[in-house]
Amino acid sequence: MSAVPVGPRGDAGPGLPAGVCPVCGGPVDDVVARCPDCGCDLAGVPPRPPAFSRPAVVATVAAFVAVYAVIVAAVALVN
Ligand SMILES: [Zn+2]
Repeated sequence: MSAVPVGPRGDAGPGLPAGVCPVCGGPVDDVVARCPDCGCDLAGVPPRPPAFSRPAVVATVAAFVAVYAVIVAAVALVN
């Protein structure tokens, strides 16, 4: 009998159980970044930070918008 908490649908998410690989369900150490059994990236598995934090997503979108603006400006100047 397992006492590990699982989400409502048993899938990966906010209720992800600590110390368990979300792919193969094998036990994983808190300090490793990848599952030793299946090689799954364990970012987001407690206590690790999520793979995509909100500031990182905002910064990435802002960077793409900045590059787009530069290209549009360059094309506008040429034409
Ligand atoms: Zn695994």
